[in-house]
Amino acid sequence: MDAAGHRVGRVLDPLNLTPGWRTRFAPAPTGLLHLGHVVNAIYVWGMARAHDGRVVLRIEDHDRSRCRAEYEQALLDDLDWLGFVPDEGKTNEFRTGASPRRQSDNDWRYAAAITALELRGLVYTCQCSRGDIARLVDDVPNEEMCYPGTCRDAQLPPDASPQRRVRLGPERERFFDLLRGPQAQVPAAQCGDLLVRDRLGQWTYQFAVTVDDLEQQIDVVIRGEDLLESTGRQRALARLLGRRRPLQFLHHPLIRHPDGTKLSKSAGDTGVRELRAAGLSAAEVIGRAAHLAGLQPSDAPCAATDVQRFFQ
Ligand code: GLU
Repeated sequence: MDAAGHRVGRVLDPLNLTPGWRTRFAPAPTGLLHLGHVVNAIYVWGMARAHDGRVVLRIEDHDRSRCRAEYEQALLDDLDWLGFVPDEGKTNEFRTGASPRRQSDNDWRYAAAITALELRGLVYTCQCSRGDIARLVDDVPNEEMCYPGTCRDAQLPPDASPQRRVRLGPERERFFDLLRGPQAQVPAAQCGDLLVRDRLGQWTYQFAVTVDDLEQQIDVVIRGEDLLESTGRQRALARLLGRRRPLQFLHHPLIRHPDGTKLSKSAGDTGVRELRAAGLSAAEVIGRAAHLAGLQPSDAPCAATDVQRFFQ
């Protein structure tokens, strides 16, 4: 059990998936890999190897202002060193040129997806800044602001702002999390109409990831619980984009510093590079991450090729 009483490391139900089902490892090159990423890799590769799945590597660099080419190189090198080998999106493919799985190489896909939604009247131009929204809603620190729909019916011309939102219906999204059981979310009440392109003209995380999961035929999303709140809206958006068979989700607990704070990508004590420089082997780093995640009682070494044992 983790601190919140969730069962850790055991899926609730056997996966109802045909062999060859697809999941993805999707780091953002905004910093160096740390033990939190290693935990996610253990879940992704472990579940895939234990249950006949395939792993796609995607580089999520939609936020151009925070992503750096040198972080991408470092994360590819660290993945190779750790021994996590993707079935699609090999690390060398990313090193040697344009990849269908690097978001910044895929602008046209997002543009095509938004055009398809525009043609159905589902997209509108929005001029509101965060400050504008904060003035209209209860702005509770650390809580998400729900867009109140200010520009929804304003029919602003496209050149009024690069920002675009997608109209979301009032539906309750129900889904089954493979670790946490049944979930329900109402995206229209959580975030309001979804921002899909921002003031800088960049595709948002929510939009890019939903388009990618659809295009790359992902069946199961395995990620940290900090993204649980995003799932309902991604499901709603995916349906608008034409997804028929819903994605399955597994949100795993995050590992934290002893004081409860989230690991930051700059955290020296948990960086894969620091641990490697301190003389740890890849199997020792993976074993330590598995232990911190509650997947094994000690930090016994575990090779990347052996992580399926936590999920069998
Ligand atoms: N790129 C995100 C991250 O590095 C993961 C997104 C996702 O799994 O949906 O945290």
